[in-house]
Amino acid sequence: MISVLNLEHQYREGGFSLSVPELVIEPAQSVALIGPSGSGKSTLLNLIAGTIPCQQGQIIVHGTRVDQLSEAEKRRYRVREIGFVFQELELIEHLSVRENILLPFLINRAAQFSATIEERCLVLARNVGLANKLERRPNQLSTGEKQRVAICRALITSPTVILADEPTGSLDPSTSLEILDLLLQQSADCGASVLVVTHDHSQLNRFSRTIDMKTLNRK
Ligand code: ADP
Ligand code: MG
Repeated sequence: MISVLNLEHQYREGGFSLSVPELVIEPAQSVALIGPSGSGKSTLLNLIAGTIPCQQGQIIVHGTRVDQLSEAEKRRYRVREIGFVFQELELIEHLSVRENILLPFLINRAAQFSATIEERCLVLARNVGLANKLERRPNQLSTGEKQRVAICRALITSPTVILADEPTGSLDPSTSLEILDLLLQQSADCGASVLVVTHDHSQLNRFSRTIDMKTLNRK
């Protein structure tokens, strides 16, 4: 569960402010986050993920007061609770698909690698149709396949919250639909809450709820 209370955020450069009196996302709920470019969608996701410091208000994720964590605690929190799918995917070209999926375990001491994790990697890859491509490099995959790798990587740590920032932005409409369904299905299987930034209003009926930045942000 995600609770945001009396959140206020401004960048030092000025010109933009975010003010969210209350936002509650239940466990296993899937939310589409819509709003024009520059309306603060990525900012909100990054505040929830703890990658932007919270200046004012409360952000509570699965019982953790994200706004009160130290930098070290925030890193552990992200590994434990958050799966992030970036628009730019951020796959590492010189690593295999398997290594890209397992990346959170390769770069964080807080994440404990084990045979169970290796097995989970296989199951996730199988679920998204990548089981026979685990040894490939990202440049040997289609864009849709790369997106699947990014989804598996976001799910490998069994996060309680999945945050996806325009995950289907660079895909053609039919692949986009397929990838969104995969993301929602895999997240539902994990019982995770999902917050997906999307511009595609034809996909909103796939979510349990839609939040518009225009009504969420009181500034
Ligand atoms: P969206 O994801 O809805 O397009 P963003 O959250 O990226 O919107 O940005 C909201 C506003 O904050 C924009 O006006 C943008 O220019 C500004 N902004 C985003 N990131 C930064 C940053 N790191 N420093 C200063 N301003 C930023
Ligand atoms: Mg954005």
